[in-house]
Amino acid sequence: MSNKIRIGIDMDGVICALTTEWLRRYNNDYSDNLKPSDITMWNWHSLVKKECGKKIYDYLDDPSVFEDAPVIKDSQSVLYEMSKECEIVIVTSPFNMNNVVAKNNWLNKYFPFIDRDNRVYVGNKSLVDVDYLLDDKPKNLEQGNYIPLLFSAPHNKSENRFTRIKDWQHMRLYYLQNIRKDWWEMLKDFFVLSILLSLITLGLNEPFHWGALIVSSVIGTVLLKLIKNRGMM
Ligand SMILES: [Mg+2]
Repeated sequence: MSNKIRIGIDMDGVICALTTEWLRRYNNDYSDNLKPSDITMWNWHSLVKKECGKKIYDYLDDPSVFEDAPVIKDSQSVLYEMSKECEIVIVTSPFNMNNVVAKNNWLNKYFPFIDRDNRVYVGNKSLVDVDYLLDDKPKNLEQGNYIPLLFSAPHNKSENRFTRIKDWQHMRLYYLQNIRKDWWEMLKDFFVLSILLSLITLGLNEPFHWGALIVSSVIGTVLLKLIKNRGMM
């Protein structure tokens, strides 16, 4: 079994902009103009035209709605970066089992680097063994033996029980600062800085102070980490 940190990633509303395609079809069929930012609740049939009502959910019985959905900005590049050091597991509810093939095709198209064995289609996500779960639905984060991360969406704006991730660049920063095991890299930076500062001190014929050398190297290491985390190195 891998000892890598395992990160569960929800699909719809986190990497797949399902609502965009869902609304495109609804707006077209009912001559409406709803936008994803208008969907401010989970069960949103009350937001659509009366003649549609709960029929809005019937769109999810057509697997092509999943295949035609666009990918969410920056999710591919950030997940690819994370997949180099962590085990990424897609944890998604297919609504009905007919959608599994369509969802799998969509993942093949946009996330070919995530192995098929690491794609879990499940209704109850608390059954999945991951260290973290990134999801836009608060209910999926309430239980389960994982650290919950809430991906921001208009429908979860009032939720405040979980660490909120506002977009994929924010997820990248969270990953670098909280998940990645980079102590070894920091230790290497510390030793390189210590040697460099020692050589400079000797070169300048200055008196040698171990305390000052260590403090300077620690400060330099922390600064380097902050610079790296902001993608400047
Ligand atoms: Mg979701």
